[in-house]
Amino acid sequence: TLSERLSGTLANLRGKGRLSEADIDATAREIRIALLEADVALPVVRGFVARTKERAKGAEVSGALNPAQQVVKIVNEELVSVLGGETRRLRFSKEPPTVIMLAGLQGSGKTTLAGKLAFWLKSQGHTPLLVACDLQRPNAVTQLQIVGERAGATVFAPHPGASAAGHQTQPGSAERNGVGDPVDVARRGVAHARDKMYDVVVVDTAGRLGVDEELMRQAADIRDAVRPDETLFVVDAMIGQDAVATAEAFRDGVGFTGVVLTKLDGDARGGAALSVREVTGQPILFASDGEKLENFDVFHPDRMASRILGMGDLLTLIEQAEGAFDQEQSEKAAAKIASGELSLEDFLEQMMAIRKMGPIGNILGMLPGANTGQMKHALAQVDDRHLDKLQAIIRGMTPAERADPKIINGSRRLRIANGSGVAVGDVNDLVNRFFEARKMMKQMAGQFGFGGGQRSAT
Ligand code: GDP
Ligand code: MG
Repeated sequence: TLSERLSGTLANLRGKGRLSEADIDATAREIRIALLEADVALPVVRGFVARTKERAKGAEVSGALNPAQQVVKIVNEELVSVLGGETRRLRFSKEPPTVIMLAGLQGSGKTTLAGKLAFWLKSQGHTPLLVACDLQRPNAVTQLQIVGERAGATVFAPHPGASAAGHQTQPGSAERNGVGDPVDVARRGVAHARDKMYDVVVVDTAGRLGVDEELMRQAADIRDAVRPDETLFVVDAMIGQDAVATAEAFRDGVGFTGVVLTKLDGDARGGAALSVREVTGQPILFASDGEKLENFDVFHPDRMASRILGMGDLLTLIEQAEGAFDQEQSEKAAAKIASGELSLEDFLEQMMAIRKMGPIGNILGMLPGANTGQMKHALAQVDDRHLDKLQAIIRGMTPAERADPKIINGSRRLRIANGSGVAVGDVNDLVNRFFEARKMMKQMAGQFGFGGGQRSAT
């Protein structure tokens, strides 16, 4: 696995500064292989790896992780964000019925998905109607009826040879396929839903074994007839590299607003997800991992990312390493606070660690003592923009200045101010307040007894 290869090829270095080119290249090679093994299409792999390398170059080395782990972390983050970040939800029309059209190759899982969607929609309080527009295969309508029955959803199906009485047949909708015209069925299905107050219509369409013009034309005609709110491209995760060409064909031939990945219960590593997403830019909305109605869920980018990279364990390890490091750091800092030795470097590190957790006011508010009058007033003054400035100033200092802020005299203050783009007054402010804070924190540490028994004599 990727985890094993990475721990084998890279030394467990801990350093400061930037990730080195060599570290990044070595790790990028492994990531590239992992992506190819997961069946991500080559051009997609290239683009993705190049982008991630750029990002890794700009990244600061974390004390918690070795360079390989850090690159992996960046790759994972990038992958999760490319795969969709937060999952997009199905868009419902303001004027029901919402029309969802399913498109994809034969065998991709459209009809099965229709049943799952109906089942899921019902669990969300909707009243779905399934419309059988696959009139190509003799048993396709029956298949949808069986699936619909299982899901407890009504199926709208064509009557063999004619359109149902009482429904308007549009001129020109010739009965091309013997049992009826799929475009006509789609149109009547939506009208039926409107009449009978079904609030979502799922239109199941025919697929072909390969991409061809006839298939695309029929899908496009159905699309034009029912103007779907969502067109879902259904793609078998096992198709791997072919996902790119197929997705492009459906994008150009029919257009789609979302993707559903099926057959994730197989051993495919899920590279198709990344390929389709990269090539079409459309979000993956759902994932299907079995033949049963309940083998279905909204898509989770984070789970897919670790499946593609094959490194669930590695990510857990990275999280643990970071957690442990944070704790180690805060214990050290607490000891320093108690002895009054806190440096600006520690202060900066703590600030960065804390800011990873969210807006600063919220976090400080959770500290012990935060509810005393004096603290409350101080907290109200803290805002994130102010912290950006503090961070910039400290970054403008030399290591020696950060370690021993007492040496920061007038000319140093001027240099720091110029370097970080602030006024000298701001630097003075920071330094003075740091000394005050350090004194106050030392007193508080004594009072509350934190600092792990290293309470210094005051
Ligand atoms: P369609 O031609 O696009 O309508 O595809 P079907 O819905 O008929 O599915 C084709 C085959 O794949 C059927 O045998 C389904 O039972 C099976 N299938 C669909 N989705 C999944 C899935 O997520 N996992 C597995 N293992 N099989 C699936
Ligand atoms: Mg089907």
